[in-house]
Amino acid sequence: MSKEQKFDYDRGMMAGRVTLVGAGPGAVDLLTIRGQRVLNQADVVVYDDLANAKLLEFCPPEAKRIYVGKRAGVHYVPQEETCRILIEEARKGLHVVRLKGGDPLVFGRGGEEIAALAAEGIACAVVPGVTAAIAAGAGIGVPLTHREHASAVVFVTGHECAGKKPDQATVDWAALAKTGATLCIYMGVRRLPEISENLQAGGLAGTTPVAVVANATLPAQTVHVTNLAAAPLLSETLKGQPALIIVGEVVRWAELQQTMAALQLAQ
Ligand code: SAH
Repeated sequence: MSKEQKFDYDRGMMAGRVTLVGAGPGAVDLLTIRGQRVLNQADVVVYDDLANAKLLEFCPPEAKRIYVGKRAGVHYVPQEETCRILIEEARKGLHVVRLKGGDPLVFGRGGEEIAALAAEGIACAVVPGVTAAIAAGAGIGVPLTHREHASAVVFVTGHECAGKKPDQATVDWAALAKTGATLCIYMGVRRLPEISENLQAGGLAGTTPVAVVANATLPAQTVHVTNLAAAPLLSETLKGQPALIIVGEVVRWAELQQTMAALQLAQ
């Protein structure tokens, strides 16, 4: 792809474009083929910690790499700065790839990036990715839906942003407790005690099965199967690791999977 600046005569401005690419949950081969093709055509790639750094090898060697994550808490790029970088690079007439962990539009602030680009009239496309909940479910053999046990799945954040105004959507854990849906909780490890308490106050039994999958699909993956009452104990153990909490009857399949694996080993 040409590195020269291009002019969009229709809009009377320097052209350029941004593609938000879902990096998938961690394992390199869970990137989509389309995602790989787009990375292959990148002039600039903007990435953070949740995207596996090995994916950068799909970019042309000359592509500019811009890191916008946190490095041991030392370096943190605020969202506005990330948006500013995307706009600035696209305005040079370049194809900017914004590589984001999982799916770019699931708890990834992808919506804010799309809005910022739209406000500047910069073309933006999205390549979906395998989101952490789906990867965690698959990794432990848990069907997130089941004809008899779960007719709905909820993707919910356990970490609401501080300073939310009262009229902004907040998580109603007591209402979620009554849905019978499988709950897939992102960013919830630190708040597990609070979440467990609120779900139980809403009517979910303390014996409701819970699985917590940290670093899903990576060699460092760990799985803890417990129940809602005991789950807060994991808060400290898993502190600082990306982990997905699955709450619901379907988690019993994780145990089934373990039994089957043991049977296979025994054969
Ligand atoms: N856009 C991402 C989510 C970003 S929010 C996606 O679609 O997956 C970050 C949260 O995602 C983490 O706190 C954790 O709850 C979850 N997460 C991301 N990668 C994960 C992984 N490999 N294993 C378990 N949870 C993960």
